[in-house]
Amino acid sequence: MTARRDFIKKGVVGAAGLLAGCAGDVDAGNERSPSDASIDTLSATAKGPVILSTWNHGLAANARAWEVLLAKGSVLDAVEQGVMVTESDLGNRSVGLGGTPDRNGHTTLDACIQDHDGRCGSVAFLEHIEHPISVARAIMEKTPHVMLVGEGAQRWALENGFTRKDVVIPEVRTAYLEWLKTSQYKPIANVENHDTIGLIAIDEQGRMAGSCTTSGMGYKIHGRVGDSPIIGAGLFVDGEIGAACSTGTGELVIRTVGSHTVVELMRHGRSPAEACEEAVRRIMKFLPNPKDYQVGFLALRKDGAYGGFAIQPGFDFALRTAEGETLVKVASAWKPA
Ligand code: ASP
Repeated sequence: MTARRDFIKKGVVGAAGLLAGCAGDVDAGNERSPSDASIDTLSATAKGPVILSTWNHGLAANARAWEVLLAKGSVLDAVEQGVMVTESDLGNRSVGLGGTPDRNGHTTLDACIQDHDGRCGSVAFLEHIEHPISVARAIMEKTPHVMLVGEGAQRWALENGFTRKDVVIPEVRTAYLEWLKTSQYKPIANVENHDTIGLIAIDEQGRMAGSCTTSGMGYKIHGRVGDSPIIGAGLFVDGEIGAACSTGTGELVIRTVGSHTVVELMRHGRSPAEACEEAVRRIMKFLPNPKDYQVGFLALRKDGAYGGFAIQPGFDFALRTAEGETLVKVASAWKPA
């Protein structure tokens, strides 16, 4: 797996020049105080299709999603097929079957998808299926429900065209056995033991959709479900307003129904970055030690404006527009002393 920081060093951020004035503004705004007046410089607007996704694994996902849009596929196909790339990457320890297991040694997967008209599907606590995002979409399209979980979800998937996949990755197994020696649950903010991919997009016609998929927090309690498969928490799309997604400590995002909050704030006039910042600050009201936590939001408005905000430095997002692709650093509320 390419470590996020290595990737940045390879100069992807340097490609920000492709998107003159956008990434640079976002970059320049990193680590701001609440009194900073230049909030709007953190939101940029792109013409035509726009795809945003969390972390550097988003670059490959965006590339696939962009291909789908270029081939005149629907935006729903694009957001699904984009994150399928991440799900299939067995080198990824936070998404798909290569993900870090829970404390019982099971890799359990959570995902959801939502379209322009608010239709949605979700799956949680799913094992042995390569593409939870496609299960989520199938639940949306073929059942009267929104969400299936656990064994029932797996059985339904197997009865509906998905195949079981058993994956054993020696490196993951060794790390798990090592973890068992202390069995301490101490997720470290910004370290690759938890990093969902959330992807939100708008096509040429102004139609929007979003997807979100993860193996969740490494070494979580067996049965734990985070924000990522919960519509309104890990993802929310309202075709009339915009879309948002999140990454980080899911419990914090669920408590504030984070992505829905971001979209509602945009509905009431906040820019994408302002909306993300407000959602982060609501979380921070009940955080004694922000330095121990990371939550990041991304938002995309119907007019192509986009932005993000995080609790602390280190969160970045992949951006694809007609002008090119880049990795953008996200502004944050807390900074190390
Ligand atoms: N939000 C995910 C969860 O809580 C993890 C992450 O994005 O880092 O499961």
